[in-house]
Amino acid sequence: MPFERTFAIVKPDAVQDGHVGEIIAAIEQGGLQIRGLKRVQLTPALCKGFYHEHVGKGFYQELEDFMTEGPVVMLCLEGEGAILAWRDLMGATNPANAAEGTLRKRFGTNIGRNATHGSDKPESAAFEVGYFFNAFELG
Ligand code: UDP
Ligand code: MG
Repeated sequence: MPFERTFAIVKPDAVQDGHVGEIIAAIEQGGLQIRGLKRVQLTPALCKGFYHEHVGKGFYQELEDFMTEGPVVMLCLEGEGAILAWRDLMGATNPANAAEGTLRKRFGTNIGRNATHGSDKPESAAFEVGYFFNAFELG
């Protein structure tokens, strides 16, 4: 498995519900290193750039309203197979389909309000990490 970086977000629902600490604990216990970490209030423009592949889809406006309703916590994670490892910790996009014990099962509400984000492939991870983190924040 490649040593790689991935990009993670604790979404506004999980921040509001006070689950940041539990999610960070799952990351550390899951063997992933935290390379970057910050709290950010997204704007519609930032959200459109980040979710560019979803702009124009039926669920996009609802996604943007959700992602900008309150602060998020974003992280750059690093480790062997980090992209898949983080997606495994999160579980399926829809919490109803997520495996027991996964973060989306534990803290998500529905397919939109699903507690966490994770990059889906190396190209997305590189784009997403670079979109939100400066090099000096990943030292
Ligand atoms: N989403 C939604 N409705 C859908 C599909 C996705 O509200 O039918 C939201 C959900 O918050 C999801 C995000 O849009 O996490 C990005 O969708 P994607 O298919 O990339 O899922 P992910 O990679 O986050 O599992
Ligand atoms: Mg995705």
